[in-house]
Amino acid sequence: MACSTGVLHLAASLGVYTLGLYSPMRPIHPGRWMPVGRKATYLALRKDCNLCRKSTTCACIESISVDEVFQQFNTFFERREQKVQQSVYLNR
Ligand SMILES: [Zn+2]
Repeated sequence: MACSTGVLHLAASLGVYTLGLYSPMRPIHPGRWMPVGRKATYLALRKDCNLCRKSTTCACIESISVDEVFQQFNTFFERREQKVQQSVYLNR
């Protein structure tokens, strides 16, 4: 699990379970930088993120909860060798 970093993309390309945490803000949004791999997915809020653009932090990515990350890891373990859902947008 990581934000959009080289380590995240290396893990995804190696075919291990990979979870990316993303801001929905352009140009750093997952539509452009999502991890690509059979067992890779990401979490991001489904919303525009223009307010965060004026800040040094992104409340959107910070609002992804530990429980939401934990739930995603549970789906990894439940599905084992199956392909994972490529994206998980959180509606708020
Ligand atoms: Zn934001």
